[in-house]
Amino acid sequence: MGRTVAVIGAGIAGPAAVLALARAGLEALWVAPKPEPDHDPVGETLAPAANPILAGLGLSGAMAAAGHRPSHTTLSAWGSDRLADRNAILHLEGPGLVLDRARFEADLRSHAAASAGRMVETRLSAAHAADGVWHLSLENGEALTADALVDASGRSAVVARSFAARERADQLMAAHAFLPHRDDSVEPTRAVLIEAVESGWWYAALRPDGSLSVAYFTDPDLLGDTPSRDLDAWTGLIAGTRHIGRWIEDAGFAVEAPPRLSSAGTTWLVPPAGRAEGAPWMAVGDCAAAFDPLSSHGMTTALWAGARAGGVMSASLQGDDTALEAYARSVMDGVAGFLAQRRGMYAQERRFPDAPFWQRRQGAG
Ligand SMILES: Cc1cc2nc3c(=O)[nH]c(=O)nc-3n(C[C@H](O)[C@H](O)[C@H](O)COP(=O)(O)OP(=O)(O)OC[C@H]3O[C@@H](n4cnc5c(N)ncnc54)[C@H](O)[C@@H]3O)c2cc1C
Repeated sequence: MGRTVAVIGAGIAGPAAVLALARAGLEALWVAPKPEPDHDPVGETLAPAANPILAGLGLSGAMAAAGHRPSHTTLSAWGSDRLADRNAILHLEGPGLVLDRARFEADLRSHAAASAGRMVETRLSAAHAADGVWHLSLENGEALTADALVDASGRSAVVARSFAARERADQLMAAHAFLPHRDDSVEPTRAVLIEAVESGWWYAALRPDGSLSVAYFTDPDLLGDTPSRDLDAWTGLIAGTRHIGRWIEDAGFAVEAPPRLSSAGTTWLVPPAGRAEGAPWMAVGDCAAAFDPLSSHGMTTALWAGARAGGVMSASLQGDDTALEAYARSVMDGVAGFLAQRRGMYAQERRFPDAPFWQRRQGAG
């Protein structure tokens, strides 16, 4: 019988897992829905820790592709009204890359497609394990089987959520938009800007296509749903900042549409890997542990976890679960480490002692 590992999901962790499985001599059955025609993912800062992982997956060439650029400077108003260079605090491993994220994801997809035993460009509808085998039902009507399963379906954790408990440190959400540049007489700065405000924090980064990626991170009860429907409410929020609003206006970016909303909280699965009816499974990327984007490590963690799939699944399929258990421990250690780091980062902001957003993050968390 063949050794087939199903990989569910096509973001960052999914293609990394497919590449790692191929390197371990396993056949990946990749369930990889096609991106929507208007797919324009948010989150472009890639930490330098990603470089060795990409090299290990044979992807250094993809990173040399046009469109990605180094990110040398992060200015932040965090713990102070004044902007300061805070690279050492907010990017613990120094400067990273500002990605053309759509291009990055497309490159990962085409490399993984060439390595997968089979790629099915549809969504998984249901999965269950019986007698050591995974049974998958796909939205295109196909029914397939696999010997092991890697869940890389992001925060939705479409399979793993049935075998693990979801833990959550907060309810952080993001309101994000890409602002077009409308003033040719100004060359916008390439620095990344971070600004803490009473009800959350802001992020702005110049994207390789010349637009500005702007995101406001807050809690759902503090935002409500008005800004995502009402342009005036969104521009009002931007106007309430000290630096972000000026950054946008002075550089000639236009606020022309309300933001999109997405979940950005710190959540993780316990356990992040195991066996179901004897069949091994592991959760990778946001599915296993999704971190507050203040870390700028979501993509790096997704690559790291996907890259472990080859070794972990190879051993488990031979009946040795040592690597599976070690993987689960590393994810849990990573979560504990991140929670400590997160507490330290939020503790640096002392200007808003009575604000619920900061109180929620400065407790035991
Ligand atoms: C506002 C914001 C800003 C961010 N900024 C950064 C940043 O600057 N740097 C950084 O490193 N990280 C950042 N992140 C985090 C980063 O985007 C994630 O950590 C990363 O995308 C996780 O990759 P993933 O592959 O695990 O999940 P995803 O990218 O979410 O991919 C999940 C995949 O699963 C697929 N899927 C879902 N359901 C099914 C199904 N039923 N069947 C088959 N497939 C399915 C989806 O189609 C998708 O292909 C940010 C996140 C947010 C919300």
